[in-house]
Amino acid sequence: MANLRNLPAVDEILLQAGVQELIRCNRRDFVVDLLRDILDQLRVELRGREDMPSREELMTLIGLRLEQAIEGCSQGTLKEVINGTGVVLHTNLGRAPLGKRAVDYMLAMATRYNNLEFDLEEGERGSRYRHVEELLTRLTGAEAALVVNNNAAAVLLALNTLARDQEVIVSRGQLVEIGGAFRIPEVMKSSGAELVEVGTTNKTYLDDYAAAITEQTALLFAAHTSNYRIVGFTEEVSLEALAQLGRSRDLPVMQDLGSGILVHPQGWNQEDEPGVRACVATGADVVTFSGDKLLGGPQAGIIVGKKRLIEAMKRNQLTRALRVDKLTIAALEGTLIEYLLGDPGRQVPVLRMLNSTPEELRERADRLARQLCQQLGQEHVKARAVDVEDMVGGGAYPTYPIPGFGVEIEFRKVRLEDMARRLRQGRPALVTRRREERMLISVRTLMSGDEDRVVDLLARALRAEETGEKNRGGQGL
Ligand SMILES: *Cc1c(COP(=O)(O)O)cnc(C)c1O
Repeated sequence: MANLRNLPAVDEILLQAGVQELIRCNRRDFVVDLLRDILDQLRVELRGREDMPSREELMTLIGLRLEQAIEGCSQGTLKEVINGTGVVLHTNLGRAPLGKRAVDYMLAMATRYNNLEFDLEEGERGSRYRHVEELLTRLTGAEAALVVNNNAAAVLLALNTLARDQEVIVSRGQLVEIGGAFRIPEVMKSSGAELVEVGTTNKTYLDDYAAAITEQTALLFAAHTSNYRIVGFTEEVSLEALAQLGRSRDLPVMQDLGSGILVHPQGWNQEDEPGVRACVATGADVVTFSGDKLLGGPQAGIIVGKKRLIEAMKRNQLTRALRVDKLTIAALEGTLIEYLLGDPGRQVPVLRMLNSTPEELRERADRLARQLCQQLGQEHVKARAVDVEDMVGGGAYPTYPIPGFGVEIEFRKVRLEDMARRLRQGRPALVTRRREERMLISVRTLMSGDEDRVVDLLARALRAEETGEKNRGGQGL
């Protein structure tokens, strides 16, 4: 208890010149709040100690912590990350970074008024769903389109509209595949539709679907699981066969594509990975996909298909709860215009990363390794260019590896975990992988200009780690 004697009171601290300055620049009640938290924390820390810091020492420490706390709040918790993992669509790292056209468009619409729901022709209320619809129908060949919050919402809305209180037939194998990562089966159940699972986990035949059709059936549902993943003894029904069955029994067929492809990355096979247009052409009545997977746009759930079905979804009250805002619409329009008129293979970041040639990646990895050796010093690190396995990521393709290049770094004087943690806590943060006792940084997922920043961040982190500087997260006692 004695240790707390030297702890100054709030009023006393508030009179300090430095603290007065902080109050001038920030809200007083906010500063006082932070101060109380800091004092609470200090009380806990002091109770566990034998020695007793002086009043002056404590005053200085409180001042420093207060400054740090205010700085921490001013920066927000969402921060930029440099992605050294080689996972192109990393859901934990915000999935697709946006291209320039999307960002320019979004910025212009965000800072001004716009015609989100205003018909400029008639001078009256319009619909927000009108905006991207034409772009989407042109790009996919579908009759109509609707955009909602994300693909899970798209599936929810489609099922709720087309099959509530009725039955949806779905292959057990596909549910298993997407189930783990997305809980799509749960989303499907929340829609009020009853799932009728057919087939076994590894084999489903057309007859299984046909035999399950009853008076209650409202929809045949197919979920796309990347063909690259299907290994071994499995059998799924083709969309073509399912569409034929749907037509003959007068039932709509829905395909949840997950990662909807509008333009294939180089070297990807149309047969193995059907794009959205192909699904529509094959006869799917409704196709859903994400805006921020291989499309490379903002988070969104895109639904394309038969006009009659899409119109019914637009009338569903649930649509109001799942609606997208103007920023999403602007970013999506910008992205889609790039697809229609621009150069998506180079201008949409996700596609650009997947289209990088091995030669290009190798050269970037070589250059980065050289820079690291020079800047960090051979006595501190060993860095060299190596082959790596990158990933498409994003759920639908998590385990499909693509060959890439990166740098492998061995630290001579500090621990790998300590460096990795310090890099994660930097601004920007750098997220890396590890291969045994070495750090691995893939170059595929680095954005333009990131290489120099990576060298700089590593140099600073290494210096701090070697001199034993305290980690971010507070001035110690
Ligand atoms: C990713 C994915 C979803 C979920 O999409 P979100 O946009 O993340 O909501 C649903 N189904 C499949 C097949 C997917 O790959």
